[in-house]
Amino acid sequence: MSDPVLTIRGLRRSYKSGDKVLTVLNGVDLYVRPGEIVGLIGPSGSGKSSLLHAAGLLEHPDAGQIIVEGRDCSDLSDRQRTRVRLATIGFVYQAHHLLAEFTALDNVALPQMIAGRSRKAARARALDLLSNLGLRERVDHQPAQMSGGEQQRVAIARALANGPRLLLADEPTGNLDPHTSTAVFDSLYALARSEGVAALVATHNLELAKHMDRVLALKDGHLEAQKL
Ligand code: ADP
Ligand code: MG
Repeated sequence: MSDPVLTIRGLRRSYKSGDKVLTVLNGVDLYVRPGEIVGLIGPSGSGKSSLLHAAGLLEHPDAGQIIVEGRDCSDLSDRQRTRVRLATIGFVYQAHHLLAEFTALDNVALPQMIAGRSRKAARARALDLLSNLGLRERVDHQPAQMSGGEQQRVAIARALANGPRLLLADEPTGNLDPHTSTAVFDSLYALARSEGVAALVATHNLELAKHMDRVLALKDGHLEAQKL
């Protein structure tokens, strides 16, 4: 079997509010292998977003190791973490966070141009990704001219635009109605598969979680394998 893209060992994270300390992650261990789509479930407030932020090198954990493609990122400087993140990790959030003034095509092309790809190559890849997600006819639309499901598809294309090895999605269909959620999730699933990324997807929706390769549940700061 191929080596995991993401390995987490003994991750701990607490938040201080006033003189109280809330321990949200209390020894989390996980791995995600290339091509594997892993669901992350748990009630609101159980720490799913905290875990994804730590995995995405957006925050320093209090303790534990975060190993991305074999490299222990726990002790890297902020600058080095940013470099690993840009080169390796794609994010999708519950809200699309697309740039309002830009078309769908430009929203997906821009991050590639920032990473050094030519405008022509970036636009070609953007067109390819958006077409794969069923948005061929929407590439010239701005976010406000698209439905919630279409906006979220653009956000998925943007997250994958630079060919990350790891996709982290935080309730990516949380703002969508059930029917649209299923359709968008199917798109994410198919594209993640064809791109061969390792994906960790937080969701409230157990019906969607059933389609994932494995599901992990956050309970009392730990992860447990979950059968659905
Ligand atoms: P989930 O995504 O599963 O809803 P979160 O990771 O967002 O859970 O939050 C877990 C817990 O940590 C919640 O009780 C939340 O209020 C708390 N929390 C999250 N971020 C912070 C923060 N920056 N400061 C204080 N408490 C926080
Ligand atoms: Mg959350």
